[in-house]
Amino acid sequence: MSTPTSLPIRTVTDPDVKATYAVDQSVGATAPGDFEVVRARDLGDVVEVMRWAHETRTPVVPQGARSSLTGASVAIEGGVVLNTEGLDTLSTVDPLEGLAVLGPGVVTKTLKDAAAAEGLFYPPDPASAAFCTIGGNVATNAGGLCCVKYGVTADYVRALQLVLPGGEVVRTGHRTAKGVAGLDLTGLFVGSEGTLGVVTEVTTRLLPAPDPALTVLATFGSLEAASVAIVALRRERHRPSLVELLDRAAVAAVQALADYGFPLDCEAVLLVQSDRPDHTSEDVQRYAGLLTDAGAVDVAVADDPAEADLLLAGRRALSPALEAKGPRYLEDVCVPVGRLTELIRTGREIAARHDVEIVMAGHAGDGNLHPSIFFDPTDPPSRQRAHLAFSEMVTAALRMGGTITGEHGVGTLKAPWLAQELGERELERQRAVKALFDPRGILNPGRVYWS
Ligand SMILES: Cc1cc2nc3c(=O)[nH]c(=O)nc-3n(C[C@H](O)[C@H](O)[C@H](O)COP(=O)(O)OP(=O)(O)OC[C@H]3O[C@@H](n4cnc5c(N)ncnc54)[C@H](O)[C@@H]3O)c2cc1C
Repeated sequence: MSTPTSLPIRTVTDPDVKATYAVDQSVGATAPGDFEVVRARDLGDVVEVMRWAHETRTPVVPQGARSSLTGASVAIEGGVVLNTEGLDTLSTVDPLEGLAVLGPGVVTKTLKDAAAAEGLFYPPDPASAAFCTIGGNVATNAGGLCCVKYGVTADYVRALQLVLPGGEVVRTGHRTAKGVAGLDLTGLFVGSEGTLGVVTEVTTRLLPAPDPALTVLATFGSLEAASVAIVALRRERHRPSLVELLDRAAVAAVQALADYGFPLDCEAVLLVQSDRPDHTSEDVQRYAGLLTDAGAVDVAVADDPAEADLLLAGRRALSPALEAKGPRYLEDVCVPVGRLTELIRTGREIAARHDVEIVMAGHAGDGNLHPSIFFDPTDPPSRQRAHLAFSEMVTAALRMGGTITGEHGVGTLKAPWLAQELGERELERQRAVKALFDPRGILNPGRVYWS
């Protein structure tokens, strides 16, 4: 299908600029031959595009910073990319009500910094916070590094403004601290991956700022030993604000980028933090004792904030570090924390059986791992084996009572497994809900629901 030329709004015409909006960060994403890009400047632009697209039955891909790892923001053949990065006004940070009101194009770190300037805290912390947008975070219900204590994006979205196919502008939720009138449509839109409406304004909850975090770094003789320690940490009354796991290869990849202070002579590293006001020193000392008792080989408390920042920067550099190692399928499975050891063991068995390298790392305090499954792009059988290993990791997580995606979303990457997790009847119900908002199926078709 070729895009009708009568799109009532200015599109990007420079082919080089246009190409930068074609793909996201997912493995193997390719640009379609024929698509248009609109960079929305205000609500009116979004309304115009959504009205026209509905009338002409043209696919629309809502898009933020294109950091999706699942293909959810890749341009579609014959469709329009509706990029909302330009809707980047942060109009309100209100300490009394504990909220912020902002456009979907505001970068996550910008919101975090603006909140911090008022003595407040916006907790969701994807490792991509320096460049991803709040609109993308809302649409994927993004998680990140401090979910183990603070939860995910959904826990902080109070209200939304959206534009539906056809151009209707709707508001969901409430600005007040409480509000139970009607169904929770805000919750429905959060995590809907651009399949129900285009987010044009977000009202988020903010917390009082915690203390600057202190960090414990513990090394282990095996991944299994580290996962036993994670279970012990989860039983803590004062839960850590961060529990991140890196295996030997992940540490080596990070240290190959720069010296972030990670030790290379161990099988696994756990980074653990406390940000509890007035209790960080006490907490990290207690965590250090607990990690030692749980079998850590070495435990160090980074009481110098610069040292702690460096370690965290190393953790944030993990994704580019592993990318530099070579092409990979990136997993995002999440299991009950009590099954983490089993997931790690199963990952090892799968790697050995298919003769592929699987690097284990992730937000292990939530049971959410991001195993990287490497392949040689010049060797098709190696790619096939890696894909088989990827598929087996997903089904193993489901078998353990987990989910196919902890935070990255379904996109196109995980769409083949959605029915396995939800069941056919639930999938049909969800498709019916989508049809209520998007009867012509123009919003991000082929993503999440596959058809
Ligand atoms: C290095 C790296 C680290 C990452 N770490 C994490 C992590 O720790 N935790 C985590 O959860 N994710 C992580 N991600 C994934 C990604 O950053 C998140 O999914 C993020 O929320 C996407 O935001 P974005 O602005 O880039 O959105 P995009 O990639 O542009 O879009 C993502 C989805 O949101 C939809 N969307 C975007 N804007 C709108 C809008 N205005 N209205 C409706 N739908 C919209 C798109 O259609 C698509 O479905 C990481 C990615 C990278 C590259």
